[in-house]
Amino acid sequence: MKVLVINCGSSSLKYQVLDMTNEVLECKGLVERIGMDGSAITHEKIGMEKFKNIVPMQDHKDAIGHVLDAIQDEDHGVIKDMSEIGAVGHRVVHAGEKYAHSVLIDDTVMAALEDCVELAPLHNPPNLLGIRACQDLMPNTPMVAVFDTAFHQTMPPESYIYAIPYEYYQKYGIRRYGFHGTSHKYVAERAADMLNVNLEDLKLITCHLGNGASVSAIKRGKCLDTSMGFTPLEGLVMGTRSGDIDPAIVTYIREKEGLDQGVANEILNKKSGVLGISGVSSDFRDLEAAAEDGNERALLALKVFAHKVKSYIGAYIAEMNGVDAIIFTAGVGENDIGMRDIICNDMGNLGIKLDLVKNKVRGKEMIISRDDSKVKVLLIPTNEELMIARDTYDIVTKL
Ligand code: AMP
Repeated sequence: MKVLVINCGSSSLKYQVLDMTNEVLECKGLVERIGMDGSAITHEKIGMEKFKNIVPMQDHKDAIGHVLDAIQDEDHGVIKDMSEIGAVGHRVVHAGEKYAHSVLIDDTVMAALEDCVELAPLHNPPNLLGIRACQDLMPNTPMVAVFDTAFHQTMPPESYIYAIPYEYYQKYGIRRYGFHGTSHKYVAERAADMLNVNLEDLKLITCHLGNGASVSAIKRGKCLDTSMGFTPLEGLVMGTRSGDIDPAIVTYIREKEGLDQGVANEILNKKSGVLGISGVSSDFRDLEAAAEDGNERALLALKVFAHKVKSYIGAYIAEMNGVDAIIFTAGVGENDIGMRDIICNDMGNLGIKLDLVKNKVRGKEMIISRDDSKVKVLLIPTNEELMIARDTYDIVTKL
């Protein structure tokens, strides 16, 4: 069976077609600037040159229409007609406390996801638009929702309850949810395979370090704690997001600068993180180049980022009473040799010894700790789309 995976943002959309009989990726693509001037689709059939088509797209339904055309294209397509697509898997950011697993989409699920819009006003609406557009264009194809929050639903209350009046949890669902769950789950499962140990017998710390970044403590295959919270703003320092700060700072800066809440949110989400500290860039490649040229604030941003990752690793080792393996994934985790080095530096007393030669690798599955390191350090490229396709295939084949 072939599965179409859709990851819909507010003005962009990523897609892949995978043949799930052998888990092979057949094509992938990106639609950008939906509903704006210059909307375009970039499509790549694996093994062929990419092509980019600039074509007006008013809305998500238009965009999905172009995706369906591209995957059926005579030269660049991977199917003859839509009957070959057995199911569609949709990435949905927030399921609140409603779903701890992926689900077949029906009217009840759609209503539940509508209820979660309040919790993720930026993310869930475009996810829902993508589902509706697909339902219109493929009314007879089963669809599955795979949630970023689902994997973290195993967290115990002591991990997810904030120390604010309990009634806010009861009334508004204010608690820690966690995000990037599909990625944390994927790399945890791969780590167990690579180490040839049952996932149930492992204590893992997974570091998803990209433009958005989060760390998870995974014990016996279940998430015990994670660094993102009620929203993806909490936790690590990120490209442009502040991560953990003293909440009193927000009120203080608002008063000093006369800012309204919207501007304050924008500053914390878009102008903070390593960009905010350095004033240079949110991209770690730019920061490293600037730091090498002697830019002190770029160097400081890198150090603050590493410090925060290290402090979460320490906290999670304490929470789990040890760790068997630490996993690095996502853009920075997979590619930034220097950052992995600073994070793992000087943790020998905790049994963590990075191999500086093995660490000189990018984007490849590898054990990068020394042979005498008690705790293994692994580099595992994430693959959220494969996870979405797997869940979709599993659910649909059991119908
Ligand atoms: P992601 O959000 O997972 O796509 O990660 C994107 C981020 O990965 C970029 O903003 C860069 O900061 C970082 N990145 C990608 N390639 C490299 C590299 N070769 N060295 C350092 N950082 C990188």
